[in-house]
Amino acid sequence: MDIWLTICRKTVPKCSYCKEPIKLGEVMIAGRLWLTSKKEGEIRKWVKNFRWHAQRKIYPDYMRTIGAVGPVDPIGEECCWLVAGLDYLSTHPQEETRGRKQLQLPKKQKDERLKILRQRARLVQKLKELMVIPLAEQSEVDTAKMIKIGSQIEELKEQISLLGGVPSSWESSG
Ligand SMILES: [Zn+2]
Repeated sequence: MDIWLTICRKTVPKCSYCKEPIKLGEVMIAGRLWLTSKKEGEIRKWVKNFRWHAQRKIYPDYMRTIGAVGPVDPIGEECCWLVAGLDYLSTHPQEETRGRKQLQLPKKQKDERLKILRQRARLVQKLKELMVIPLAEQSEVDTAKMIKIGSQIEELKEQISLLGGVPSSWESSG
């Protein structure tokens, strides 16, 4: 996919990720996917275009539920392209294979290992979402969740060490 940064020159009704409009003059990320298919011996080519917010303002959840009135300070910003990409990676984990031998594991253990990689990717994603919340807004529940996720990640590390070893990419972030 081709990806580039641009300024929105015409309001986009729906961002490819959050489905909210991208307004005129806002910075956005554009993507173009080149596709081909073969149907009845005929090759068809077409492009699929994507538009994402580069900096979408995030408001507290409760503002949405009460139908915000008047100016409200956003609690953060997110890049819809980046968030969508992280989402994708969390369900399609890739293992670093450069510079080392392919693991020789029986099929069942390989599947088990892949399952653990997926679980961890999901947990890391959840942790990232919680870490976006500013400290002042964090509740005890959020803190407890973060601690729980941390220990779950540790458990997965123990499990995977018995299934071909701990991936080197895990070491730096626990
Ligand atoms: Zn968006």
